Amino acid sequence: MPESLQPEASHFIDGAYAEDASGDLLPVIYPATGAEIARLHTATPAILDRALAAAKRAQAEWAARTGAERGRVLRRAAEIIRARNQDLSVLETHDTGKPISETTVADATSAADALEWFGCLAPTLSGEHIPLSGGDFVYTRREPLGVCVGLGAWNYPTQIAAWKAAPALACGNAMVFKPSEETPLCALKLAEILVEAGAPPGLFNVVQGAGEVGRALVADPRVAKVSLTGSVPTGQRVYAAAAEGMKHVTMELGGKSPLVVFEDAELEDAVSGAIMANFYSTGQVCSNGTRVFVQRGIREAFLDRVTARMDDAVIGDPMDAATTIGPMVSARQRAIVEDYIAKGVEEGATLVKGGHRTGNEGFFIEPALFADVTDGMTIAREEIFGPVLSVLDFDTEEEALARANATPYGLAAGVFTRDMARAHRMAAGFQAGATYINTYNLTPVEAPFGGSKTSGVGRENGKAAIEFYSELKSVYVANGPCEAPF
Ligand code: NDP
Repeated sequence: MPESLQPEASHFIDGAYAEDASGDLLPVIYPATGAEIARLHTATPAILDRALAAAKRAQAEWAARTGAERGRVLRRAAEIIRARNQDLSVLETHDTGKPISETTVADATSAADALEWFGCLAPTLSGEHIPLSGGDFVYTRREPLGVCVGLGAWNYPTQIAAWKAAPALACGNAMVFKPSEETPLCALKLAEILVEAGAPPGLFNVVQGAGEVGRALVADPRVAKVSLTGSVPTGQRVYAAAAEGMKHVTMELGGKSPLVVFEDAELEDAVSGAIMANFYSTGQVCSNGTRVFVQRGIREAFLDRVTARMDDAVIGDPMDAATTIGPMVSARQRAIVEDYIAKGVEEGATLVKGGHRTGNEGFFIEPALFADVTDGMTIAREEIFGPVLSVLDFDTEEEALARANATPYGLAAGVFTRDMARAHRMAAGFQAGATYINTYNLTPVEAPFGGSKTSGVGRENGKAAIEFYSELKSVYVANGPCEAPF
């Protein structure tokens, strides 16, 4: 990693880098080589206390600014991010292993989109006036919640930090963000840039560490809200801990999403959709459509085309602009994926292609294509979080919808068909928060994003996110005498 991208210290608190070397060592590993590229420390209780105290102080000052003033800072941060996209993308690639061909278009750029969009929304946030009888009226004030905690997963460290920070700050909150311990670098840059853009020191702080640091943040009485991006089991733990203090939550969790391909679909588009739904970011995407239901009549054609297109994947050095498949984030995650592939074979699915290590150093694995997958198989039921595409056959629309919904998850779902009436019927019938017609896995900041069922609570992005980072206070104003029974 270039020297210029080395973090100055482990944490970013009160407008500056901060260190406490008594915290446990946190080595940062480049997934493409397995080499250590930086060495940080996890947050000690003293560091957490400093971060929360700084956030509390900054929040009061920030909330007193107008929405227009707050929005200006966020939009300036978006501009800085766009100007530094190349460096930030190199950093993202080193943090995650994702290929530079992806990180230059999907990570810092997505963060800039969120900061710009919520920066534009900030000046428009307001309450309403509600007239009552006798000249009385109520007006509402949209108020920030206070100090918010963000907890991030490792697949999109820049995007996740910005998707949480942008609406939170637009509403007048402050944030303490804890990245995944696998990918601690990117959020530090966002913190730096926000200060450069004019955010008061302490408004957005980053502290490092694993689950126990997250737990301490969630339990702290100074925290009003917790926004987690992570797995369902972690979500259940964090939601329960937040409930102790009756804190607000947003839970962006995992999934096992269906992608339904009908015989009348534009075949090449459906194949592209399935590739986007399974292999982008080496399959480490929460909303992936990992159960690809293909109508029986096009089964062979579909498998042939996916197989042929997989031949065009370029696996290797993520810093090479031609590479389209990077390594998994960690040796541990690759081992999890390998176990699932072995289970798929063991339980009778046909491994059509891929699924083996590549021989490169680093945590590489070939994308895998399974056919003859049935609903009860482990690979059709559990979130794998790796590049494993399972094809399941189906005959009728009713059957496809029922099987698509037969999961405790409900993050995303997609359909490919030329029949638009059927497409809308399917979209209405899917039990999922983010659904797609003739495309997959696009997440523009304008559109609300989040899960149904066990995949989450709340929505990120879109105007909907404002509801989860603010609350309404009603003010009753009397215009006559105050009456009482005696
Ligand atoms: P985890 O659930 O393991 O971790 C998420 C974050 O929570 C990490 O920062 C983790 O710390 C922290 N954490 C873990 N335990 C606790 C706890 N008890 N209290 C507070 N914080 C805690 O998820 P992964 O990082 O493994 O990410 C993969 C998962 O994230 C997948 O299930 C994926 O589907 C989901 N995801 C969901 C998205 C969505 O928007 N719906 C988007 C991206 C991913 P640490 O890991 O450092 O120990």
